[in-house]
Amino acid sequence: MKLLVTGGAGYVGSVCARVLLEAGHDITIVDNLSTGNADAVPDGARFVEGNVRDVAATVLDPGDVDGVVHFAAQSLVGESVENPQKYWHGNVVETLALLDAMRDAGTPRLVFSSTAATYGEPESVPILESSPARPTNPYGATKLAIDTAISGYCAAYGLAATSLRYFNVAGAHGGAGENRVIETHLIPIVLQAALGHRAGVKIFGTDYPTDDGTAVRDYIHVYDLAQAHALALQASTPGRHDIFNLGSGTGFSVRQVIDTCMTVTGAEIPVEETGRRAGDPAVLIASSDKAIAELGWKPDRTDLSVIVSDAWDFTRSLGDRAHSARA
Ligand code: UDP
Repeated sequence: MKLLVTGGAGYVGSVCARVLLEAGHDITIVDNLSTGNADAVPDGARFVEGNVRDVAATVLDPGDVDGVVHFAAQSLVGESVENPQKYWHGNVVETLALLDAMRDAGTPRLVFSSTAATYGEPESVPILESSPARPTNPYGATKLAIDTAISGYCAAYGLAATSLRYFNVAGAHGGAGENRVIETHLIPIVLQAALGHRAGVKIFGTDYPTDDGTAVRDYIHVYDLAQAHALALQASTPGRHDIFNLGSGTGFSVRQVIDTCMTVTGAEIPVEETGRRAGDPAVLIASSDKAIAELGWKPDRTDLSVIVSDAWDFTRSLGDRAHSARA
């Protein structure tokens, strides 16, 4: 297929662009490089630098593009609480412009990066797609608003769309991985500490109602996640908006993640226990049964040590290109 990948210079977008290229698709990437890295754009993809709302209409030639995989977004929960304007504009306004450009050009398919943050604090785990969507921060709220808009565009204009609600994405593939200027995610932070780019890692909360008192999350390998995007493009149906959760179905506590990182890296990582981070639920675990049944998705890198080991290989390979090395 001829595909437009927005946000293809970011972490998940650049891995997914590689996987789609490997599958034989023709890829154009649009990214404004506000958080992405130009060196993450894979060889073999065309690259257009710009905001989605500014360039979507020019890169979507009428009748020419088979689908859009939309990753470009603002995605820091804490920042979204402090600066919701950036999120409502950066996520919702940009995506509405994309949806309008797709409608005008007759682009038939969309795969959208949604998030577990649309569910907020779950009533029970594992979380099903039918669980109530009650986001607890503007990031999740903007992604849910986009999901709602997409449903309307599918019903009224015949768009075929799939929203993929990611749980905790980690790992690396094909020379692409996590290398953010501002890093807030647990696994890359612990690995940066293992490399000596940070003094250590803080555990946010040790009084959660979990076995060891630290928060539990469902970590999914970015390669498995990318495979789901390729399947979603094939499976989409005009007029339908399908929503799938994507996780590994197993929860790991913050302490278990840190212990796995120490085993994989062989490094002793200093740990400091601090209070909870605002807005963090105790336990988030996905049910991905729907994606497995309906998309034929077969995650096969679900072992946490494989996820951490791939992330570690990538982190070490960065050398001077690591933003954390320059911090
Ligand atoms: N976490 C932590 N220390 C850190 C970063 C994260 O204890 O330096 C915890 C965080 O509170 C959450 C879990 O690790 O319980 C995963 O956080 P992350 O930011 O990676 O993903 P999130 O679940 O927020 O999407």
